[in-house]
Amino acid sequence: AAAQARFENANPNSKNQHDRAVKSLPGGNTRSLLHTSPFPLSMKSGKGPYVFDEDDHKYLDFVGELTAGIYGHSHPVIREAILSTFDNVGLNLGSTTVQEERHASLMCERFNVDSIRFTNSGTEATTHALAAARRFTGRRKVVVFNGGYHGAVFSFGSGIAQNNVDLDDWVLARYNDIASARTAIEGTSGLAAVLVEGMQGAGGCIPATKDFMLAVQESAKKAGAVFILDEVMTSRLAPGGLQSILGLKPDMTTLGKYLGGGFAFGAFGGRADVMSVYDPRNKDSLAHSGTFNNNTMTMHVGHAGLSKILTPEVNIEFNAMGDAFLEKLRTITKGTKCCFTGRGAILAVHFTPTGAQDINCVDEVEEDLELKDLFWFEMLEKGYWITRRGSIALILGTPQEELDRFVRCVEDFLDRHRSIV
Ligand code: PLP
Repeated sequence: AAAQARFENANPNSKNQHDRAVKSLPGGNTRSLLHTSPFPLSMKSGKGPYVFDEDDHKYLDFVGELTAGIYGHSHPVIREAILSTFDNVGLNLGSTTVQEERHASLMCERFNVDSIRFTNSGTEATTHALAAARRFTGRRKVVVFNGGYHGAVFSFGSGIAQNNVDLDDWVLARYNDIASARTAIEGTSGLAAVLVEGMQGAGGCIPATKDFMLAVQESAKKAGAVFILDEVMTSRLAPGGLQSILGLKPDMTTLGKYLGGGFAFGAFGGRADVMSVYDPRNKDSLAHSGTFNNNTMTMHVGHAGLSKILTPEVNIEFNAMGDAFLEKLRTITKGTKCCFTGRGAILAVHFTPTGAQDINCVDEVEEDLELKDLFWFEMLEKGYWITRRGSIALILGTPQEELDRFVRCVEDFLDRHRSIV
């Protein structure tokens, strides 16, 4: 209560902004995740890895636009790509373009897919990957995992990422549980696809074990179902995505977030025979439309980001920095209710009542949300902008001393609240 009172006193402009917003937006926003009680902080601007709120506080941006903001705010290469598209190309030409071919070709090479199609969000990418799998197999059912999140209408968590999905076509198995996965996949008749994240993102940055993912892949093959790996969040964990680390070869991969260079983006790609259901040269092909699917701005800026900023070398160094950061946080939180999960430059904080330091699926632990809230309020005061659910997506160019200071802030938090954490 004291932390919340300090928050309210420190942020009158955000409060006013929220009071105005509730008049035209349900609850005052248009992305449910961004709601925080008593009111959300409203950001005014960003520069590099920092954001500034309406009351002029400066924060290190740990939200990182839920992994889409990897390049930071107003990166010069992104700026140049935007301006040159605007000045020399124009927006959306109502035709196929060089920009779309170039981005597709680079993405196929990086993420080991034969061909790819673009969408405007990860949610759409999931939608079309599933449609392709259903058409290809002539079946309907899909195995998914508890705690999984594959877009606004494909959410299978009972907690933080809750959504009301009609479960008719879905078979829910336990994440990180090989026996449960095998039973669901091999025991379901009419199975079109298995849809899974290699690390649950919205579900709390919970990595799957390699054995689990290999078992899922093998079972899907045995069942004749399309194995769809959702890499919308995880593709940035290595130059070839998390699949390259885990040694997977999915039939289909979904992508999104930062790959649009900061613009609305999604993509799905995979095996040539599965993707060919979308080949319009075939008489009975599936339609996949979208006014902005290949807009020149997103295609060009996304390509510039991937080819000029997030080169394979930069990617590896960046995720190694994340791994070292996570390791330090895991060390200092041992023996407390606080635990950090994740991998590479994507992580999350949790407070488990039992002090469990490893979580197989957030759906299966009851988190201490009061402690998590206290942590959130206090880290804001220290200048760290984190999602309320506790995820942290690092931004390129984040100074090492900011990460070191965060580790000290966490140590200090644990020290001061020793009796309750
Ligand atoms: N899949 C995963 C794993 C995601 O994390 C997300 C978004 O967070 C999506 C799909 C949906 O992407 P979008 O928000 O662009 O629709």
